[in-house]
Amino acid sequence: MCCSIIGYCGDDGAAPVLVRGLKRMEYRGYDSVGVATLLPTDGAKDRDGRHDKANENDDNNDNCTKIMIRKGTGKVSDVNAEFGLDALPGKVGIGHTRWASHGKVTNVNAHPHQSSRGGVAIVHNGIIANFEVLRRDLENDGYLFCSDTDSEVIANLLHRHYVQTGDVKESMMRTVCMLEGEYAFVAMFEDDGTLAAARLHQPLVLGVGNDDLFISSDVLGFIEYTDEAVYVQDRNIVIAGGGGATAATTYEIFDFEGSAAEYEVTKVSKEFGDAYRGDYAHFTLREIYEQNQTMLKVNEGAGNGLEEAASLIRSSGGTVYLTGSGSSYNATLVAKYLFSHYAGIGMESIMSSELQFAANSIRRGAVLVAVSQSGESADVLNAVKIARNADCRIISIVNVLTSSLAHESDVVVGMGCGPEIGVAATKSFTSQLVVLYRIMAELAGGVAADALLPDMDDGVKAVAGAVSQVLENPAEIQRIAREIRDVSDIYVLGRGVHYPIAVEAALKIKELTYIHAEGIAGGELKHGPLALMDSSAYVIIINPFDSTYEETLTSAREIGARGAKIIGVSDRASDVYDYWIEVPSMSASAGADFAALYPVLEIVPIQILAYYAALERDKDPDYPRNLAKSVTVR
Ligand code: GLU
Repeated sequence: MCCSIIGYCGDDGAAPVLVRGLKRMEYRGYDSVGVATLLPTDGAKDRDGRHDKANENDDNNDNCTKIMIRKGTGKVSDVNAEFGLDALPGKVGIGHTRWASHGKVTNVNAHPHQSSRGGVAIVHNGIIANFEVLRRDLENDGYLFCSDTDSEVIANLLHRHYVQTGDVKESMMRTVCMLEGEYAFVAMFEDDGTLAAARLHQPLVLGVGNDDLFISSDVLGFIEYTDEAVYVQDRNIVIAGGGGATAATTYEIFDFEGSAAEYEVTKVSKEFGDAYRGDYAHFTLREIYEQNQTMLKVNEGAGNGLEEAASLIRSSGGTVYLTGSGSSYNATLVAKYLFSHYAGIGMESIMSSELQFAANSIRRGAVLVAVSQSGESADVLNAVKIARNADCRIISIVNVLTSSLAHESDVVVGMGCGPEIGVAATKSFTSQLVVLYRIMAELAGGVAADALLPDMDDGVKAVAGAVSQVLENPAEIQRIAREIRDVSDIYVLGRGVHYPIAVEAALKIKELTYIHAEGIAGGELKHGPLALMDSSAYVIIINPFDSTYEETLTSAREIGARGAKIIGVSDRASDVYDYWIEVPSMSASAGADFAALYPVLEIVPIQILAYYAALERDKDPDYPRNLAKSVTVR
C-alpha cells in the first residue's frame, strides 16, 4: 500500500501547503489525489473567486455546508490544474494521494471522503479489513455511501460518534476500537476545525511549526516549513488545532485507550538547510534516490584516472592489493571477483584495519588500490602508509579529491558522486562499484573469453535505468520494511559476486536499523548458518537470474523448509519467496546482456529497505548511533 495523507492547520492558506506536500510525497506512488478544506465562515469564494459551492466534483455533496472537496484521478499537477485544488480557501485542510486498494481508480473513490451527514471528512492510508460489516451497520443506521472504498466507513463512524459524544477525542477512541486492518488517517471536524489523526501500522508524523501544524505520512509533507517532527507511535491518536486561529498550534497525543502518550519532538535533520529544502526527508533517502544519476557521472569524476589506474595495474608485475573499510571494503570484495572473472587478474582484498597484520607479506613494488569515500579514513591511510613502506604504488578511488588519501596517491580516480552526508554509504558505494567495473573493463580486453562483459557505457546506462525503476516503485519494499520492524535477526544470502553484496546489505541493515544482520555465502549455508534457520528468521536471498540462480534458489528452498521467511531480490518470481522484491532483468536489457552489472542494481532495494525499516523503528537514518561519517581515528 502506498499513498500519502496530510493535514494542515495554521496561519497560511491550507490548500497550497497541502498540494505542495503531496507533490513532495509523489515518489510514494499514487493514482488519485484530492484536498478538502474548511471554508472560512465569512464566505465561500476560492482564491480565484471562481466558486462558492462545496464539493463540486464530489457526488456526495448535498449535506455539507462548510467542507469543500476537490479531487480526481491522475497526477497531482494534472488534477490540480483541472480542479484547482490549491485554490480552495481556508486555513485548515486535509489532502491525499491514493493507491487504490478497495474500489476502482475513479474521481468518486478518490479521497477525501466525508460523512453522508456532513460534519467530518477524512483521508486514509491503508486498509480497513472489516469495512463491510461496519458499512452494513452504518447503512442500517441511515448513513449513505457514495464510494466503493473501505475508507468511507471512517468518516461515517466518526460522525456517528461525534453526534453521540460531542467530543473529538471520544469519537476517535470509539472509532479506532472498531477498525481492523492497518491504517493512518486524518479527519477534519467541521464544528471547530479540529484535525484528528490515528495510526495503526501505517506511518504518521506530526510537523510542529511556529504558527502551524502538519500531520503527514512522511516528513517530506512539511519539510520546507518545519524540521521539528513527532514520529507518532503506533496505536496513538493526535488531536490538533481546533478552537479558532489561536489554538491552531496546540496538539495532544493519546493512546487508543485515551491516556496521554509519551512522545518526543525531534529535529528531522541536523544539517537541514536551504540547499535541501523541498527535496527529501533525509540525506540518506536523497542519496539513495540520486544513484541513477551519480553512477552515470563516474566518467566525469574519474577523468583520466580510469586509464591511468588500468595502466598502473598492468605494470604491477602481477600483484595487486585492494583495501578499504566498511562499505568501501565490500566494494573491493566485488572488485576482486570482477577482476578475476572478467579480466583474469587475481587480486587480494585486505580490510584496511587488518592490513597491518599482513605487513610482512606485502610484496615490494606491488600496487595497492585504496577505496574511501572521504579519503580521510585513518585505517585506510595507515594501510597506504604500510604499502608505501613496501614501495607499493597507490591508486586511490575517492570522492573527496582534496583529501589526504588523494594526496598520498600516484593515481587518483574520483567517484564524482557529490557530497555524501548520510553516515551510511549509499551512492558512494554504487559509484565505487562503477569505477571498479570501468577500470576492470579497461583491463579486460577479451581476456576471459567465457565471461560476457558488456560495453561499459551501455551497461552503466542500462543499470542506471534499472535503478530508476526500483526507485520509482518502493511500495513492496515499504511493506516489507513494516514486516521486519520487530525482528531481531536478518540474514542476507548471496553466491559468487553477490556474496559481497549480501555482506554490504547486512551492513546497511545494521547501520540504519540496528537489527542484527549477517551476510552468508550461499555455499557456506550447510557449514553453519543453516543451524540458525527457524520460523523466527528472515532471510534476504540475492538471486538475480544469472549463473548463480539455480543453486541460490536451492539454498532458499533449504532455508524455507526450516520455516524461515524468505525475501527474494530477483528479476524472477518464485514460490519459494514469501516476499519478492522485483528488480528489472539485466540479462535482456535493451537487447543486450548486462547481467555482469547486477551487483550495482541489487544493493539499491536493500538500501531502500534499510532506510524505511529505520523509519519504522523510529531511528534517524542519517545519523546512526555511535557512528560517524568519516572515521578519522584508529
Ligand atoms: N483503502 C483505501 C482506498 O482504496 C486507501 C488506499 C490508500 O492507502 O491509498 O481508497
